[in-house]
Amino acid sequence: MSDLSDLYQEVILDHNKRPRNFHELAGASHHALGHNPLCGDRMTVYLRMDGDTLADVSFVGSGCAISKASASMMTEGVKGRSRPQAERLFSLFHDLVTGAPGAEEHLDELGKLRIFAGVREFPVRVKCASLAWHTLRAAMQHQGKVSTE
Ligand code: ZN
Repeated sequence: MSDLSDLYQEVILDHNKRPRNFHELAGASHHALGHNPLCGDRMTVYLRMDGDTLADVSFVGSGCAISKASASMMTEGVKGRSRPQAERLFSLFHDLVTGAPGAEEHLDELGKLRIFAGVREFPVRVKCASLAWHTLRAAMQHQGKVSTE
């Protein structure tokens, strides 16, 4: 587990310092605002849907390193995927960070997102890590806003 913890630190720091897809999205077809009052994380996730495909995904906002890194990695993880694939990743990711039984069986599918397994040891951070995903889902469902409370 300590190897994974080191990787976790490294990846979070990297994505926090240089978040990927960190900009407003011109021509976005969907967007939503996410807020985690517990920590103060706020972000807007933008989507450009092409049929059922998440053709482009981006985000802007401010928050803690975990929320930002998670949003950054989420955009990389779902870009180019279909909506059902994105929903499935969210579900696997949520199981992973909350430590749901069986979550470890899907690490391959989660790819790089697996490093967030470390979050389960810090329950207050689970909402930080999952905020981007809740916001993505709200955007896909055309809900303008989501709060983790
Ligand atoms: Zn946070």
